[in-house]
Amino acid sequence: MVQTQSEIAALLDYDRRHVWHPYTSPTHPLPVYPVAAAHGVYVRLMDGRELIDGMASWWCVIHGYNHPRLNAALREQADKMAHVMFGGLTHDPAIKRARSLINSTPHKLQKVFFCDSGSVAVEVAMKMALQYQTALSRGRAKHFLTIRGGYHGDTLGAMSVCDPVTGMHQLFSGALPIQFFARRPGALDKGWREDDIADFQAQLEAHHHEIAAVIMEPVVQGAGGMYFYAPEFLRRVRVLCDKYGILLILDEIATGFGRTGRMFACEHAGIAPDIMCLGKAVTGGYMSFAATLTTERVGEVIGRREGVFMHGPTFMANPLACAVANASLELLAEMDIGVDVGRISEGLRRGLEPCRELPAVAEVRALGAIGVVEMKTPVDVAVIQQVFVERGVWIRPFGRLIYIMPPYIITNTELDFLTRQMVEVIKNL
Ligand code: PMP
Repeated sequence: MVQTQSEIAALLDYDRRHVWHPYTSPTHPLPVYPVAAAHGVYVRLMDGRELIDGMASWWCVIHGYNHPRLNAALREQADKMAHVMFGGLTHDPAIKRARSLINSTPHKLQKVFFCDSGSVAVEVAMKMALQYQTALSRGRAKHFLTIRGGYHGDTLGAMSVCDPVTGMHQLFSGALPIQFFARRPGALDKGWREDDIADFQAQLEAHHHEIAAVIMEPVVQGAGGMYFYAPEFLRRVRVLCDKYGILLILDEIATGFGRTGRMFACEHAGIAPDIMCLGKAVTGGYMSFAATLTTERVGEVIGRREGVFMHGPTFMANPLACAVANASLELLAEMDIGVDVGRISEGLRRGLEPCRELPAVAEVRALGAIGVVEMKTPVDVAVIQQVFVERGVWIRPFGRLIYIMPPYIITNTELDFLTRQMVEVIKNL
């Protein structure tokens, strides 16, 4: 049902006065667009306009909105039980979910900790690493090493390993644990240079006694700059972590489940982490859910001398989330990720190519189902967003980055429309 202009205005007025939205001022928030429904690759606004979604709702709606198989899985599970506590109880959706995650991630990862969101999955990973090192009597190993330009979430521990300049360190300075930051490697299209690992190696050599784990986003840094780097860097990091007995945490929250053209981005490097964080697309974008996977070895060390792992969220392994996540993984298993995501990659490359010639554009890049146009100067989000909406697409830029990562079900025609709108809007900047 399309709502009247005055009904919509009243809702927006209440929203503006009382409801906080992500990364915006509580007193002068950026404008928001009211959504009535969403289906397939389309988001329908309350005034009846339909927008092609270029964001997959921040990476997660990989199969499109309102998917009949995901809806059915949710309904079926809701009729059995929506939730039970996970302390002292277990259930089929969680066991199925654990088995399918273990079977689809690198073989080494055999233990699953279910949690609520990406940031919590990162906190859990960091706590696992700290408890592991404590159990090995590496008492000084209380810090983390990462590369600049990363993003791992908004909770305090996760924020501490986000990029110290583009992240939120300044705002929360003094309140965050101190971590080590190495120079990030050169961009993927520049190829591998030996020098790319030098700073990382030097930091590890100098501080390895103080480091519990290395944490990184594999191949693609998302919210820290939509930056792609060579998989060779990960191979070198793996060797160095093994040399110093330091755990490697890979944050696949954005990159996991096919987004980069492989099921998991670490597959580009042919390496496996000791701890892997998953989130976002895990439920096909239906609800907040995440998982932290680790090895038998990490589990065994933490469990020595009757040690327990100290984390246990209220909604751990929520059955609804597990059931919809299982259905989402089944849909993924029916895809040929290389071919299906490859098709989108090709469409992004072709469609965004004209941006290379535009004076305001610094760089254009695509990997898997991620297309990025980096501008020379920051864009005005509110203004550009309105123009995109008027053109029938949903794209939300940040800083100098105008980027898209659409649901995998997008057709070639829809993708062509999406990229054409991007080119046309950027032409006028
Ligand atoms: N890690 C990465 C790589 C992410 O992209 C995000 C979300 N943008 C997070 C962690 C945090 O996830 P969440 O927003 O679900 O807490």
